[in-house]
Order: sequence, then structure tokens, then C-alpha cells
Amino acid sequence: MELNCPSCAHLNRGFVEVCEHCGGEIGVFWEIESAALEHLLQARHAFAQGDAASAMGHSLRSWEMKHTARSAAIAALAAVMLGDLETAHLWLEQFDRVGDQSSDTQPMPFGPVTEQGTEQG
Ligand SMILES: [Zn+2]
Repeated sequence: MELNCPSCAHLNRGFVEVCEHCGGEIGVFWEIESAALEHLLQARHAFAQGDAASAMGHSLRSWEMKHTARSAAIAALAAVMLGDLETAHLWLEQFDRVGDQSSDTQPMPFGPVTEQGTEQG
């Protein structure tokens, strides 16, 4: 796991109590990071079990702790399973927003979105 220091933005690789660059205490952020990841894993597990409500709950918890493309993606998929397309659409927007900013290069669950009638040129 990697963590950007909230003070100096240095990328710390692996668990460290203090930032390797500025010495700021980042242990608590690691705890949040791992809790967010834990909820993400539980969301994926619930999703695989077909438990959309639980998948949604865990992905929301994960999202509250850390805004990641993956938590937004699972929330969107869970919303689709729950038949709530409006909510799914909102999560897809969050997915796009976070995905653009994130250095997270995990494989995306969706292909690129192409919209009809918006071609440039
Ligand atoms: Zn730092």
C-alpha cells in the first residue's frame, strides 16, 4: 500500500508511522486507509454473494474514509443491482471524477465511455 503524506504530499510506500520526508505522523491515516480497504473488500465479497444492499453499505463506508474509484464503482454496480439507476448514475459521476484525479492505476471495471453525438471535429 502507498500513502501520500497529508502535510508534504510525499508518497510513502509501505506502512510507516511517520512520513519518510517530513517526519509528520501518518500512522492514523494508514489506519483509515486500511479500514477503507477492508470495507472495499467486504463490499466486493458481498457483491459476489449477490448481496447488493450489503455491498452498497460497505462501499459507502469505504468511500467515507477514502474516495476511491473502486468504492464508487462498487456503489454504482450495487445501485444497479438494487434497481436504482439514478443513484448508479451519480456514483458513475463520482467514479469519473475520482478516476481523473487518482494515481490509482488499478484495472477499471468499466471500459471507456463513448457518447453518441459528441464526437469532436
Ligand atoms: Zn510528509
